[in-house]
Amino acid sequence: MHDCYGDVDRVPELLERVEREDDAEAWKELGYRLCLEGGLVFAASFAALPQLVRLASSDPRARALAGRILRRAAGHHGCDDLLADRAGTIAEVRVLLDLYLRSRPDDYLAAFLDLLAVNAQYHWSAALGDFTDDFYHLACPHCGAEVTIAIGDYERYSAIRDWNLGDVERRDLRPASPGKLSRTGRRMHDTAVRDGQQVLAAGIRCLLGRAECPRCASVFGIADEYMSAECPTSW
Ligand SMILES: [Zn+2]
Repeated sequence: MHDCYGDVDRVPELLERVEREDDAEAWKELGYRLCLEGGLVFAASFAALPQLVRLASSDPRARALAGRILRRAAGHHGCDDLLADRAGTIAEVRVLLDLYLRSRPDDYLAAFLDLLAVNAQYHWSAALGDFTDDFYHLACPHCGAEVTIAIGDYERYSAIRDWNLGDVERRDLRPASPGKLSRTGRRMHDTAVRDGQQVLAAGIRCLLGRAECPRCASVFGIADEYMSAECPTSW
């Protein structure tokens, strides 16, 4: 099976090396052979998943690499059959990531996005930021005005972006109440709350909530508009 560089024998060698000893160079090479910068993955990437899962209990780099590979599984790689064969392994990655998230690690968001991808929520995996200072640009579904949505630690608003004056005509966002979230939204939110990620949870409530268009005063669902503009195929 080919890796990202078209080689077939290098990945098995490297996997053997990292299994035998702590080999930073081999991990680095595995990283770019299994997951090319820019997001391409190949057959060898999915074929390596069982070994990465096996290594993950002793080496966090294996879990992180498996997560990165699965985050790219939505793209075009021609390996759908292989991926379907790996369903059991993917379920193991899900358990590993969930356990890791419960430990409240410093790189929480990266693992959270990996878990969303493992659950085939690719659009969410690509759309979520850390909500410390995030902006989403979308068109009002009623009047077509370009609306800027800000979801940050201190400011959460919809506005019209003026290149000289900044964000003007600001309106407060209307966060979704947790009880009214969709199944996926609820699961994302509850996981963040469970793990003490208050900023992330609040950001998810905002993104899944509603905004007022400063131009025509209509109110619309932020995620609906953002997702339909950004990810028409996966939505
Ligand atoms: Zn409008």
